[in-house]
Amino acid sequence: MNPVGEKEIRGSFVNCSKGEARRLNLPRNLPDLPWDDLDFLGWRDPGAPDRGYLVAERHGVIVGVTLRLAQEVRRSLAKSTICSVCVTAHPGTGVALFTAPRVGAAGRQGNTVGTYMCADLACSLYVRGRKRADLGALRFETLTEEERIVRAVVNLEGFLDKVLEDTMSSTTL
Ligand SMILES: [Zn+2]
Repeated sequence: MNPVGEKEIRGSFVNCSKGEARRLNLPRNLPDLPWDDLDFLGWRDPGAPDRGYLVAERHGVIVGVTLRLAQEVRRSLAKSTICSVCVTAHPGTGVALFTAPRVGAAGRQGNTVGTYMCADLACSLYVRGRKRADLGALRFETLTEEERIVRAVVNLEGFLDKVLEDTMSSTTL
């Protein structure tokens, strides 16, 4: 993705208050991130461990979404859990369940969308092999890197579609 700056990121959030968008903690090394290898920017809040954020370009517009850590996936050495965006299998707590408030009235009424994702939200780096899960992920993958990237982008778009869908707006009273 094209590099985005602090102002653009803070102005992009669609599912939180302006105050929250102003206060949230950005990645510390923003200008130095490997933008060429990012399909979207995802990070955990360095000051609030239960918060995470996604910033992605959607139909030419930068869209930011806040996430809440709903549940650490149970640590187990024998089992792995799969990220629903990049389909990387992680052992232990490498995948976490996040929830995002929906936009608009639905979100204000507490309506959220949940997704299992890489706990560090670095899906773009896993699909490119720049980061590896501890258990030799992608061992059984037959897709090329390019195909994995496309799949992750499509999966992320599906998630963003659900967050951006204001389910209450179509309600007639
Ligand atoms: Zn992932």
